[in-house]
Amino acid sequence: MTEMVYRLGPGCEVDDVVEGNIYIGKVQGFATFGTFVQLNDKTKGLLHKSNVKTEKKERDTILVLVNQIRPNGNIDLREVIMEEGSYETKLVSKKVVISKLSDLRNKLGRNITVEADVVQIKQTSGPTIFTVCDEIGTEDAAAFTEAGVRSYPEVQLGDVVRIFGEANKRNNQVQIEVSDMIILRGEEADHVRARINRALEERAEPPTEVEPLVDSEVLRALWPEMRKLAKIVRRAVLTQQPIILRHHADADGICAAVSVETAVLQYIRENGGDPDMDNLLFRRSPSKAPFYEIEDVTRDLDMMLKDNVRFGQKFPLILLMDNGSTEEDMPSYKMTEVYNLDVIVADHHHPDDTIDKYLLAHVNPYHVGGDFGVTAGMLGTEIARLIFPGIEKKILHFPAVAGVADRSEAPELQQYLALIEGKYTIDQCRDMALALDYEQYWLRFNDGREIVKDILNINNAEDRHNRLVALLVEEANTAINEQVETMMPHVKEQVLESGARLFQADVEMFAHRFTFPPPGKSSGEVHDVLCKKYAGEPIVTLGFGPDFAVIRSRGVLMNIPQMVRSMRYEMPGAGISGGGHLIVGSIKFVEGMRSEVIAKMIEKISELGVEQL
Ligand code: MN
Repeated sequence: MTEMVYRLGPGCEVDDVVEGNIYIGKVQGFATFGTFVQLNDKTKGLLHKSNVKTEKKERDTILVLVNQIRPNGNIDLREVIMEEGSYETKLVSKKVVISKLSDLRNKLGRNITVEADVVQIKQTSGPTIFTVCDEIGTEDAAAFTEAGVRSYPEVQLGDVVRIFGEANKRNNQVQIEVSDMIILRGEEADHVRARINRALEERAEPPTEVEPLVDSEVLRALWPEMRKLAKIVRRAVLTQQPIILRHHADADGICAAVSVETAVLQYIRENGGDPDMDNLLFRRSPSKAPFYEIEDVTRDLDMMLKDNVRFGQKFPLILLMDNGSTEEDMPSYKMTEVYNLDVIVADHHHPDDTIDKYLLAHVNPYHVGGDFGVTAGMLGTEIARLIFPGIEKKILHFPAVAGVADRSEAPELQQYLALIEGKYTIDQCRDMALALDYEQYWLRFNDGREIVKDILNINNAEDRHNRLVALLVEEANTAINEQVETMMPHVKEQVLESGARLFQADVEMFAHRFTFPPPGKSSGEVHDVLCKKYAGEPIVTLGFGPDFAVIRSRGVLMNIPQMVRSMRYEMPGAGISGGGHLIVGSIKFVEGMRSEVIAKMIEKISELGVEQL
């Protein structure tokens, strides 16, 4: 077997030298106790005179074996004699020690090398800032060519790079001052990417010890999908992917969204981010309809594309809560598909499976034999615990608020109420729900983050919470009572063949418009009054506007999405669309077909059976 002789390559240091290996060196100089031998420009060892075997002069080549590397870095050598041709030579190239980003704070002022994924590229008026992410952390790397000029223009979002530079601190944040950066390609890139991915997969996994707060068959069956959804959210946080949370702008949707918002913001902080300074990472937006409207998706795409150009942001993860499950969402999903966006949904509206091909995860109680009684706010609170369990105490009352808001009759609601016994009564939950609905009406498309936190009492300001909710509830009730009193004398009643009572309320002519309560809620309130008056009887209440109707029912075998679909088919030229829950929903049509549509709806409802109450 031929022996191996090594040649220490440029840039190599004592770290790259291995005890017991033979190296080709060059005589550097002589001292009384021995000979200095250079292994390369940077590294030399001492050949003690007792280990010298041949006579050499300066700059002669010499073969040496490394006896020992002392703790102080001194290298002890022994000369070896080998015949030319009896050995192979091998070049030792610099062994790069790759630092982990999370370690950089211990290496301030030192030269470091990192391998990471580029997750954001932002051009400042000074340097170019590359935000990079490895298996454990995320940091900024600043590269400077000329003020305001993009450094390393060849490096793009999603590239895997090796960065050489110095670890520093800027504004109390660790930052790498880049001296060189190369894009890794081919196998090398695949290798690093696989390493980062493996680690991310593990870190993004929600904690296994978290289980549903209540004993629920539906939640147990949904749990794997909820874990999957939570993992996608956690992964987005870890990789600096912005998150857009769209939710239905009612109390249930708000509870769902705010619980996840609370968890995500805390998880971002936990991972070294500052969501208060960097509000591009998470945005919560209420949607007026219980589905992802074209108007919403257009706003989101517009903002996302501008952020991508201006701030080098990745395309966002879109999370829909208390909306997203139905065919009404399809046009928007076709838009997200064009941009290849990640979309995930947690909803309790009756789902259409045609939309599933657009979604990475879809949590819906109907998928496992449950129904809308397990509301979005319940799902959201459980998902929030999977994202960041530490916030559980704060949001423990959200499922109850959401449940009473959406009139859940699921057994889960009683259990959620029991969890907060002694802290909140069911009436307090109802008040919070009404206050949320009332305030959201005036907030319109704004998220009202801090006001909403006050209403839900998660701002550590109990007194302010109490006063605010009391005031909003009083205002809301005054407005509702006024509206109902105005509407009631104009409500038309008829008894259907099935025995059900059908009421028609005109929310256009005989109700205040453009104020609280809006038409849907107004007819809901009228419906509630009628339900009390005719306790135990099947009831349908239709609230008609000029080109829409809202439907509430009790005790009638109603399937609103199905009814809307068949009317769309049977009434060409009526421009029918809509949907919602099975027994609560809405329908849109063209104004010129109003009376025909009303007649058709009543005909359809007359054919429906009634439940035994
Ligand atoms: Mn809901």
